[in-house]
Amino acid sequence: MKRRTFIKQSSLTALSLGFLGATQLSGKSIAGDKTLKVNSQRIENRIMELAQFGRDDKGRGYRVAYTKVDIEGRAWFMDLMKKVGLDPTIDAAGNIIGKRKGKNASLKPIAFGSHIDMVPDGGNYDGTLGSICALEVIEILNENNVTTDHPLEVIIFGNEEGGTIGSKAITSGLTKEGLQQKSQSGLTMADGIKAIGGNPDNIINSIKKRGDIKAFLELHIEQGGILEKENIQIGVVEGIVGIVHWEVTVEGFANHAGSTPMNMRQDALLAASQFIIAVNEVINSIKGSQVGTIGKIAVQPGAYNVIPGKVLLGLEIRDLSSDKIEMLYSEIEKRAATIAVASKTTISFERQANPSKPALTDKSLQQVINATAKTLGFTTKFMQSGAGHDSQHMAVIAPVAMIFIPSVGGISHSSKEFSTAADMANGGNVLLQTILSIDKV
Ligand SMILES: [Zn+2]
Repeated sequence: MKRRTFIKQSSLTALSLGFLGATQLSGKSIAGDKTLKVNSQRIENRIMELAQFGRDDKGRGYRVAYTKVDIEGRAWFMDLMKKVGLDPTIDAAGNIIGKRKGKNASLKPIAFGSHIDMVPDGGNYDGTLGSICALEVIEILNENNVTTDHPLEVIIFGNEEGGTIGSKAITSGLTKEGLQQKSQSGLTMADGIKAIGGNPDNIINSIKKRGDIKAFLELHIEQGGILEKENIQIGVVEGIVGIVHWEVTVEGFANHAGSTPMNMRQDALLAASQFIIAVNEVINSIKGSQVGTIGKIAVQPGAYNVIPGKVLLGLEIRDLSSDKIEMLYSEIEKRAATIAVASKTTISFERQANPSKPALTDKSLQQVINATAKTLGFTTKFMQSGAGHDSQHMAVIAPVAMIFIPSVGGISHSSKEFSTAADMANGGNVLLQTILSIDKV
């Protein structure tokens, strides 16, 4: 596509959607400089370099937040940030923040980044991709002497995998109880935050308010198999799903498995089995991307010769719409009531505290990403994120957007996690050009 067409297309996108509704477009410069490209080899090399921190002799990664290797990985990353002039600091919550001046200091910064901690035996791309590419964007701007109008801010969140702790801390805040919770490292969150250079006693100082940043962008691997299966290069994330959990108790009557005839039983496990199938049917009964899972089961008393008297199940429903989650839940309740009558059991539900609310990304940013990706010649798909991300908390204080690239085999949170160098560079280029586009509105 010729540059003029690109400018027209991007301008139309931004005009029709009025990103943030604030500034008038300055016309020609809207598209940014589409000749700028990330360095694919450098991205891949750095992914591999960072992967060395916390890797065991079988090649598996254990860079769990707040551990020695997490601290070493962060130090390596901060060194790179210093080399590209980002002057990184660590906030009270343990997030690493690097800043690059813009032409106009009165404008709010455009922020972008991700996380570099991982789950035990995790992969080399989850979080790392968005972090390395954030650095790459800065480096490309440096190498081409480009100064954006807005200041830029690279944020590497602390302890994403242990409960999006860093991003939660700077948006809605952490409670005292939350700070005393044990993290995967064995340290409490408070001690862990201290270990990575934060200050849990002063954590309130790290809070960002709505309006503090213009937008937050996160490039991430999909962690699912949709993009690969449909042969799509870039996923435009519409939002991060809400998650609600219920503990389901099925109560029957525990009795002798030998002397109780089949027609005189109140078998809680039999009812639970029917219930599990019913959940699957309800979730599949309507179109959409909703998912529902029974991922937990405990049978009591649990013996060969006793009819199960009680079964505890864990029910989870995820979707972008809270209303849809509630609608599905009420259908599941109805099916449970029918099963309970037929099986002479009772089925009760206890909703668990602290559900994750759905977090929608900014519609105009979605359009900018989609148009940018298309201009770069990539296929795109609007999709939801079934996994949690730091962006869901950033959405509380700023318009956010996420860019997904394919995960080979849909595998994530595993040492088999993989994304190709070409896909990583594609994502990096979409991030770079999106930043340049929104810099002009
Ligand atoms: Zn992640």
